[in-house]
Amino acid sequence: KKRNPGQDEFIQAVHEVAQDIFDFIEDKEEYHEAQILRRIAEPDRVVSFRVCWEDDNHNIRVQRGWRVQNNNAIGPYKGGIRFHPSVNESVLKFLAFEQTFKNSLTGLPMGGGKGGANFNPKGKSDSEVMRFCQSFMTELYRHIGPDTDVPAGDIGVGAREIGYMFGQYKRITNRWEGVLTGKGTEYGGSKMRPEATGYGAVYFLRNMLEKDGQDIEGKQAVISGSGNVATHAAEKLCQLGAKVLTLSDSDGFIHDPDGIDQEKIDWVKRLKNERRGRISEYADHFTNATFHEGKKPWNVDCDIALPCATQNELCEDDAKALVENGCMAVSEGANMPTTLEGVKVFHEAKILYGPGKAANAGGVAVSGLEMSQNAERISWNHDKLGEMLTELMQDIHDKCVEHGEQDGYIDYVRGANIAGFKKVADAMLAFGVV
Ligand code: NDP
Repeated sequence: KKRNPGQDEFIQAVHEVAQDIFDFIEDKEEYHEAQILRRIAEPDRVVSFRVCWEDDNHNIRVQRGWRVQNNNAIGPYKGGIRFHPSVNESVLKFLAFEQTFKNSLTGLPMGGGKGGANFNPKGKSDSEVMRFCQSFMTELYRHIGPDTDVPAGDIGVGAREIGYMFGQYKRITNRWEGVLTGKGTEYGGSKMRPEATGYGAVYFLRNMLEKDGQDIEGKQAVISGSGNVATHAAEKLCQLGAKVLTLSDSDGFIHDPDGIDQEKIDWVKRLKNERRGRISEYADHFTNATFHEGKKPWNVDCDIALPCATQNELCEDDAKALVENGCMAVSEGANMPTTLEGVKVFHEAKILYGPGKAANAGGVAVSGLEMSQNAERISWNHDKLGEMLTELMQDIHDKCVEHGEQDGYIDYVRGANIAGFKKVADAMLAFGVV
């Protein structure tokens, strides 16, 4: 806390990992001596910069941008860019720290990083977003590269923003290279990338349920968020025979007792991606659906829950409500959506709980495959990538089980922390004191 004053999210993320790692390294002198955990929890560097842009009324606006390069022991830094007013150094440090473990878990050669700006894309015109993205990249380009640091999308950064940033990188450097992932398929993007995080979170859920002798078919699901991750998680759940009851955004949630089927999901995708509308409009459009302003969906009766919006959106009371209402499994599409107290409730109730760093790793895994395709100047087809994603998620699940099984209960958080840590720590040991 003294080293990182005011950085609550970062301290929370380190605290959660440290508990498991201390336990694991207790009898392993080499990690203690080398101060490995302390070194992983100190980013390699944090770059902070001014992003100046002009709005449509010719006002000059000034935002702050960051890139946190946490650790590149096992590969180039890799992690998304977030544009949201809540972005600050603490949030990005927590995300870059978590990303280091997640990327390690995928088994692919990627280090951990994260970046973003306190820019609010909501209500901005296309040209304003373009000018902001270009200005952001005009500074960021000097810190990244296909073998150095490969950013991607995150909250507020989708295909449109990646396109503007990639265009600016190419213009400044005169190089076409795989410096960003999540690109459009016309210019080097990987098939299956848009779906990968949401689908992956559902595959992880399916793996957890199968290990427990259950399956997804017929289950009632609540989901938060209505962006990239939430809509694709909903889509895969429908395909596997579950009934999706809710979606949300920062204004509140919608509850559709008839189920949110593929047609309705497509409507939400158009609402969010084309019209940039609010989820409340869903209740005006579909009969029987209701909108609950300022509320989260965790009090709705369900079998499974997928938090897919943002960090700390599911607290202790929400976790208790889920457990009391019969929820048997939680798979996190978002990063750290459940507070430490909420996680404790899930563990005490011994329900299946897949933390984001494992359950949502499908997105970055397919980003890693996008890097491979760009390096080789080839493009794999949808089916091949779908198969690879399914296998990667199974592999991540199995690593969590290997390190997390204790007295018949699988602590997926512990499993993910230890498996992710070990690979990075062993690489760092090999490098000596650097
Ligand atoms: P999007 O921007 O597409 O969607 C984010 C959704 O979450 C929106 O519905 C948004 O509502 C809601 N949201 C954002 N901030 C808040 C907030 N403070 N309070 C309530 N709701 C909020 O982002 P993604 O779907 O890409 O990302 C969602 C989560 O998944 C994030 O935690 C992200 O880090 C994580 N993730 C994403 C990956 C990806 O591949 N995209 C990969 C791995 C993790 P509103 O429009 O009102 O802001």
